[in-house]
Amino acid sequence: MRSDPVRRTILAMDTVMNLTVCQNGKDITMDKALDELTACINTLDKELSATGQESPIYALNHAQGGWTALSERGCDLLDRALALCAATGGALDLTAYPAVEAWGFPSGEYRVVSPDECAQLAGRINYAAVERKDGQARLPEGMALDMGAVAKGYAGDILAARLGEMGITSALLDLGQSSIQAIGAKPDGSPWRVGIQDPDSEGYLGVLSLSDCGMGTSGNYQRFFEEDGVTYCHIIDPAAAAPAQTGLSSVTVVSPSGLLCDGLSTALFVMGLDKATQFWHDHPELGFDALFITDKGKIYLTPGLADSFTLAEGEQREVTVLS
Ligand code: AMP
Ligand code: MG
Repeated sequence: MRSDPVRRTILAMDTVMNLTVCQNGKDITMDKALDELTACINTLDKELSATGQESPIYALNHAQGGWTALSERGCDLLDRALALCAATGGALDLTAYPAVEAWGFPSGEYRVVSPDECAQLAGRINYAAVERKDGQARLPEGMALDMGAVAKGYAGDILAARLGEMGITSALLDLGQSSIQAIGAKPDGSPWRVGIQDPDSEGYLGVLSLSDCGMGTSGNYQRFFEEDGVTYCHIIDPAAAAPAQTGLSSVTVVSPSGLLCDGLSTALFVMGLDKATQFWHDHPELGFDALFITDKGKIYLTPGLADSFTLAEGEQREVTVLS
């Protein structure tokens, strides 16, 4: 017997998430499956938040150089994300958090940080100084980290695994701010169609067809403030301790791993188009594709996305397939 998909909207990880499940599991209804996914996200949110005072990450950031116990998943994510920080040469750096805070992103009390202060903050950013042992982590005094660049993608991987255990093979998890996990395909067997936001308007400029994979987008339109005609976005260049300005408006990464999509979209945004393209060439082992939108509105994509990307009707943009 076929039944209609069940959708649920929840608020977690500081964003609105839309979960769609299209079939009952082996021993579980769609509604119960959504209850489980919701509980799982809420637990992850508590474990990974840098701002929630109950969170182990908050405790780590306030431990003044002491060892702090993290959750099992907190340790797992930290280890994987630190490996990605290294792979990206520090374009992804979880310890950019003091700069994220100084520019006012978590609180919304935005300010333009002076070059002197940025230089001082940059000296406190270094993912390689994070220490790990057993179920614990330690940061040098004065440093802090957050999982904002990777938590939603990681959550996508955890939820996809849960759905697999339940025997659910058709679902779409939109984890907000463009972290998507596509489980299988639509019930009719066609791929999921996911909109790519136009950085310069409310609408979509195109669609990616996806099945059984993750997608992550980092864009300068997602969280930003303006002062004196300059736009400052929430993605920080760790080397400068200042919002990244590399001529890109957004980067979308597609790969089987939600964590990789999330972490790399942030890192490639920091690198800018040329370095990011080089990174893609240099790291075939990571197995990802990417779509870049420049601040001039041009679109560049890796060959793996050439067939799955379509421009929205009426869009006349230049689309270049990278080689
Ligand atoms: P995303 O939206 O996935 O690109 O992640 C951006 C969030 O991650 C920001 O809101 C910060 O909390 C944090 N962040 C900003 N810049 C970086 C960076 N270069 N490396 C790691 N985390 C960052
Ligand atoms: Mg990210």
